[in-house]
Amino acid sequence: MSQPEQVEVLILGSGEAGKLLAWHMARAGRRTAVVERRWIGGSCPNIACLPSKNEIWSARVALLAQHAAKFGTMITGLVTTDMAKVRQRKRDMVDREIALHLQNYKTSGAELIMGTGHFVASKTLEVRLNDGGTRLLAGDQVFLNLGTHAAIPSIPGLEAAQPLTHIEALELDYLPPHLVVLGGGYIGLELAQAYRRFGSRVTVIESGPQLMSREDRDVADEMRRILGDEGIQILVATETVNVHGRSGEEVSLTVRTASGEQTIEGSDILVAAGRVPNTAGIGLEEAGVELDGRGYVRVNERLETTASDVWAVGECAGSPQFTHVSHDDFRIIRDNLAGGKRSTRDRLVPYCMFTDPPLAHVGLSEREAEHQGVTTRVARLSMSAVLRAHTTDETQGFMKALVASDDRILGFTMIGAEAGEVVAVVQTAMLANLPYPVLRDAVLAHPTMAEGLGPLLSNLPPG
Ligand SMILES: Cc1cc2nc3c(=O)[nH]c(=O)nc-3n(C[C@H](O)[C@H](O)[C@H](O)COP(=O)(O)OP(=O)(O)OC[C@H]3O[C@@H](n4cnc5c(N)ncnc54)[C@H](O)[C@@H]3O)c2cc1C
Repeated sequence: MSQPEQVEVLILGSGEAGKLLAWHMARAGRRTAVVERRWIGGSCPNIACLPSKNEIWSARVALLAQHAAKFGTMITGLVTTDMAKVRQRKRDMVDREIALHLQNYKTSGAELIMGTGHFVASKTLEVRLNDGGTRLLAGDQVFLNLGTHAAIPSIPGLEAAQPLTHIEALELDYLPPHLVVLGGGYIGLELAQAYRRFGSRVTVIESGPQLMSREDRDVADEMRRILGDEGIQILVATETVNVHGRSGEEVSLTVRTASGEQTIEGSDILVAAGRVPNTAGIGLEEAGVELDGRGYVRVNERLETTASDVWAVGECAGSPQFTHVSHDDFRIIRDNLAGGKRSTRDRLVPYCMFTDPPLAHVGLSEREAEHQGVTTRVARLSMSAVLRAHTTDETQGFMKALVASDDRILGFTMIGAEAGEVVAVVQTAMLANLPYPVLRDAVLAHPTMAEGLGPLLSNLPPG
């Protein structure tokens, strides 16, 4: 093996944690190289959070335009969606994001190497450069931020049908006449609703007994009702037996439900049925980095792998699959390398699914509380009881809070407009260990969605 170029910090994958580490380390004067095969800045700005929310916003505009007359705005003529324009707006945003990233690489001094890396020895990568040729790099400290990719379930005929994943779905310049979505999780539902609003017929097929398997039943049922009311056909507890045809042309799916087999004819298939870590075939065993049974990098609560001076961050490390968690993984490593004692244990991780209305959650669900044997009191409030929702005609959904016997808030879930913002209010109260009456009795601005927290917590049954 020829002599590798030695750097102090070597990062494989430029996702959220990887790029933040790169910029931080380089700004601290350390010789830093980042190897990235395709997406400058990782999934979030290129193919995941930001592009999906961008197109989802276009879908909301489509919905408002379709219903404009209700709000007193008269649109004469047919409201249609030009998917090429939807895509161009998204592409323009992504281009701006990439430019900002390149600027950060430039100003920080971290070297971005575009190519595919694999380990050939401990802390040593061979990089197949996108422009041709190879480079051999060794790092004093190595960080893995490899991400995940969409799983394609092994259903006869599915792979041959060349289904869309979220990547291709966010690049369509045409409207699928009938989009069949395999998977009733967050990604599948966000895109299902967006395409329905653009004008596609949409069918969602979920193999589990409910949508969004980790949510409480009442939450899943409410979301199913809302999406069903928009004309999305939803099948749960439905196994896809086989697929014929080709996505983008014609597809035919045989599905099995409790009441027997049926055939679904569609034009396009989107697969949103889980994620697979990008850890296979890149020589991690050469580097002494062990994987767990599901192929994720085995890490301790300080994100250290089984190889010394090698860390893993973000989704490939089995961290909850959100950009804000990958961001926090970066902070944990940054602080620990500076002598801190931070860990991934007991992180309070909120999330938001950007359907309309969105679903946001933090802390324990009712199901988790029951499973853990934690006694809670549960308060509920329909969004139709929140005055702000009357002003915008967004009365669908509900809020739910779980409170412990010592009055601390243990969990909060909301399906409702601005849920992603309201959850931050409750999370802040939880972080501060505030007894719930403090939030219940707070004077919150009127009319806001957060104002609903007062009546919600007033609904708590007596302890
Ligand atoms: C459709 C969709 C929507 C989402 N929406 C949200 C949302 O609204 N909010 C939210 O918080 N999260 C969302 N997520 C999840 C979020 O995108 C990720 O959790 C987040 O981007 C963090 O990813 P990461 O840092 O683990 O890795 P990534 O950002 O995926 O980065 C890994 C990088 O490593 C590179 N790479 C991998 N292997 C190699 C190799 N061998 N050589 C060179 N480079 C390599 C990849 O090209 C990639 O750029 C969404 C995900 C999807 C798919």
